[in-house]
Amino acid sequence: MKTNVIVKIPTPLHLVVPVVEWAEFPRLRPRKRQPGGMAVTEADLKRFWSKVKIKSQNQCWNWNGSTSPRGYGSVSLYGANLRAHRVSLYFSGTIIPEQHFACHHCDNPGCVNPHHLFVGTQKQNADDMKHKNRQCKGERTPSSRITTKIARAIKTAPKYDGYLRDLAAFYGISHGCVQHVRYGHTWRHI
Ligand SMILES: [Zn+2]
Repeated sequence: MKTNVIVKIPTPLHLVVPVVEWAEFPRLRPRKRQPGGMAVTEADLKRFWSKVKIKSQNQCWNWNGSTSPRGYGSVSLYGANLRAHRVSLYFSGTIIPEQHFACHHCDNPGCVNPHHLFVGTQKQNADDMKHKNRQCKGERTPSSRITTKIARAIKTAPKYDGYLRDLAAFYGISHGCVQHVRYGHTWRHI
């Protein structure tokens, strides 16, 4: 039987934590699956949230653990490598139906703030990406906001806390645009 427990951890959220249902993470099936799911323990939550830089609701909560080449947080839980933003949404009580994705409003793949995440279909996800990408494609695209020189500078800029935001402010472009360049979603050819 599915039980919901409310675990209070030092975050602005009171997390409603259900049992982990394996169907929630279809692509990465843990080796030791228990029928009916597995209870989320307080230790799991503490470990998860200890890797998150928790800020206010409006700000991005960046994942401090390991990340995929595209900048998505990844976490090892229940014998599987799971996407951190998806786990965050799930730990916050949002069920992601089959064939749906955990998408970012904020366009920051490393963000696991559940307030910045929404459940979308593959099409919605693709449309969202297209919409966000439209303004920072390569230089030949008429609507491009940046030049090859700037893209190269963004790619090679030294990393420090808040460097993406600083780059966005410096070049007068959106934070998402900087991230797309930095993580190779756009300007992949340079
Ligand atoms: Zn965010």
